[in-house]
Amino acid sequence: MRKLHSFSGGIHPPEHKEQSTREPIAQASLASRLIVPLQQHMGAVGDPLVRKGQRVLKGQPLAAAAGAFSAATHAPTSGMVSALELHPAPHPSGLLALCAVIEPDGEDRWTEHSPLDWRNADPQATLARLRDGGVVGLGGAVFPTAVKARGNGRPVDTLIINGGECEPYITCDDMLMRERAPEISRGIEILQRLTGAREVVVGIEDNKPEAVAAMEAACGASAIPIQVEPVPTLYPAGGEKQLIKVITGREVPSRGLPAEVGVVCFNVATVYAVYRAVELGEPMVSRVVTVTGNVHAPRNFECLLGTPVGELAALAGPCVDTDGFIMGGPLMGFPLPSDAVPVVKATNCVIASSEALFPKPPPPMPCIRCGRCAEACPAGLQPMDLYWFAKAHNLAKAEEFSLFDCIECGCCDYVCPSHIPLVQYYKFAKGEIRTLAQEKETADRARRRHEFRQYRQDREKQERAARLASRAPGAKKAPATPEALAESQEAE
Ligand code: SF4
Ligand code: SF4
Repeated sequence: MRKLHSFSGGIHPPEHKEQSTREPIAQASLASRLIVPLQQHMGAVGDPLVRKGQRVLKGQPLAAAAGAFSAATHAPTSGMVSALELHPAPHPSGLLALCAVIEPDGEDRWTEHSPLDWRNADPQATLARLRDGGVVGLGGAVFPTAVKARGNGRPVDTLIINGGECEPYITCDDMLMRERAPEISRGIEILQRLTGAREVVVGIEDNKPEAVAAMEAACGASAIPIQVEPVPTLYPAGGEKQLIKVITGREVPSRGLPAEVGVVCFNVATVYAVYRAVELGEPMVSRVVTVTGNVHAPRNFECLLGTPVGELAALAGPCVDTDGFIMGGPLMGFPLPSDAVPVVKATNCVIASSEALFPKPPPPMPCIRCGRCAEACPAGLQPMDLYWFAKAHNLAKAEEFSLFDCIECGCCDYVCPSHIPLVQYYKFAKGEIRTLAQEKETADRARRRHEFRQYRQDREKQERAARLASRAPGAKKAPATPEALAESQEAE
């Protein structure tokens, strides 16, 4: 048993997990049409590889990875591409994303599978398989897994598999570990080889005893030593930096990456997708999603990407007073703009909401500087100061007080007796800072372009003047340059 460490802050909200873990994972039925955003990952998006009217097979690429920091997107079933069009994406802003709309033919016919003999393959080939197989972080960040598995060019000694799943209501990782632990342990072996980590630890909150037992049995039979470590249940123990702190005692530096302290961390669902992409040769076309909240039969479903949320939620029987859907958990998730938005790689949970389940909070009151938010903050921040800076639009000060170390966990919101929606202020301030930085970058680029044009025009003017002077009667013969020759030929 290893010595565990603790992180500062954290809260114990009611878990609401038991409702969706009573039944095994079910296969979601095929939707009437699938709406597949071509970008479901962080990084560049490739051009569409299909056109309207084209027939596709399940697993056929819809868009290739655009360079190293990217991932491909695939058809989740066989059928016809009926449109390539902008469609509301599952995003708080309801922004539009380019999507391939697929009318399923009902046959669910795969492209040819090409399993990779990863033990004997060049690691670069395995990384390319992850990128081309569309594997990204399924814990929410959707960071391309092939990029992370390189450790950002830094040596990694510890590989951590994140089975924390600390947010209330969400149980998809728990059920995946209970039911598919042997496959997850194969995925861990692949990632251990890619990262070269000497030590491998699976961190699971101790409120998931069945998952711990299943993972212990599977990892015990693995070809490499894998330690399964139950960690104390405390939200947000499943946060990447928090889990690394608990397991290794190492602090990821402010705005830094885990690789800077020799660690790389993958979510268990990502590891399962790694196994499928490499050993089975199956690109990422589905994921397990928890459907819970104000529904009659909460459950986890293996769901094709692109399935409209409304069609998935219908399988769990939403109650009549359902007034919307939340993607993610109640603390870090966001209300969906409509139930027509599709399930994407980042969709771990869909919660049907109602006034009774999530009553409107009372109107915010002034901050009384009680300090509870600072006690609860797992990032060691001063949330009330960040709130004041964001409210006063003092963005420089907010940045100076480590605004970007905020993981938007919502612990401060949860404990605030004045019901101030603190996280909304942080999201707003971050958005403003990013927009300003973008505007500055655009203006700098335009200025550099203008300065270069000015410089080129001045130089051309000087060269022309020099040439004319060299041709004047009595002028010394100037050395011949290709430009001067061309000009003199033109003049003749
Ligand atoms: S918990 Fe709320 S009221 Fe208390 S200091 Fe923080 S922001 Fe102010
Ligand atoms: S949302 Fe940000 S400021 Fe609030 S507790 Fe979490 S990390 Fe701290």
